[in-house]
Amino acid sequence: MQARTGRGFGIKVMTMGGNSNVKLISDDGIRVDGRKVDELRPIRIEAGVLKRADGSAYVEFGKNKVLAAVYGPRECHPRHMQNPAKAIIQCKYNMIAFSVNDRKRPGPDRRSVEISKIISEAFEYVVFTENFPRTSIDVYIEVLQANAGTRCAGLTAASVALADAGIPMKDLVPAVAVGKVNDQVVLDLQKEEDNFGQADLPIAIIPRTGEVLLLQMDGHMTRAEFDQAIEMGVGACKRIYDLQKDALARRYSVEKSEEDQLEEAPAETQEG
Ligand code: ADP
Repeated sequence: MQARTGRGFGIKVMTMGGNSNVKLISDDGIRVDGRKVDELRPIRIEAGVLKRADGSAYVEFGKNKVLAAVYGPRECHPRHMQNPAKAIIQCKYNMIAFSVNDRKRPGPDRRSVEISKIISEAFEYVVFTENFPRTSIDVYIEVLQANAGTRCAGLTAASVALADAGIPMKDLVPAVAVGKVNDQVVLDLQKEEDNFGQADLPIAIIPRTGEVLLLQMDGHMTRAEFDQAIEMGVGACKRIYDLQKDALARRYSVEKSEEDQLEEAPAETQEG
């Protein structure tokens, strides 16, 4: 792929191999935001951030801010969509109007429909859907602020939200994008690197089995670069996996201490 129209910007942005003249990595290997080529952006993951959802999570990958909420398993409507053998997973990925520089036109577009579909399909492989016939598990991913890599941040958040909802899964799913910038393989692309880089390769894995759950690619890489990108992506996913587990552990310990407090509180008496 040589160039693609700037996603609804109305201008043509040279991307993925189209503009390798833009210098995004200094001679000593430092990227525009100060990271090394194999360095992740600062990541923050919080589980159970919404009271009304059955499960929820908030994730930051650098400047990306993403909220995920899970409802279900609940009766699937309309009924003709029910599967008598298993639950269906309906994911809705949405970038809200103020998530990008130019206002994003609200509502679904081709890109968000595609991302919703690939994330739904990824979770259908991971969730034990056969435990919940005729139901729907609804996953909402809201991108509050976007800076490239939102589908990976969204997947990472959604899998923590599913675990927070107590939905049985093979494993948590960490995801990250790897890319190629100035002829170098780099981890976790941010916006300028995504726009002016030569390749973008989002990857999600199931750490427990080592399976690759999602793999997409825009742009060009040699076979050797591709292998290096996969290795870099899988290594980073394992680090994100630890942060996901840590977020769930923190959520659990908060709940426990609240319960402890209730137990420790003296019972009110009706006497007097
Ligand atoms: P991802 O966010 O998963 O990397 P893309 O590669 O399609 O997905 O998008 C890269 C980045 O481009 C997004 O994170 C966002 O910052 C920006 N972007 C995508 N769609 C739009 C849009 N409609 N308007 C403005 N910016 C957008």
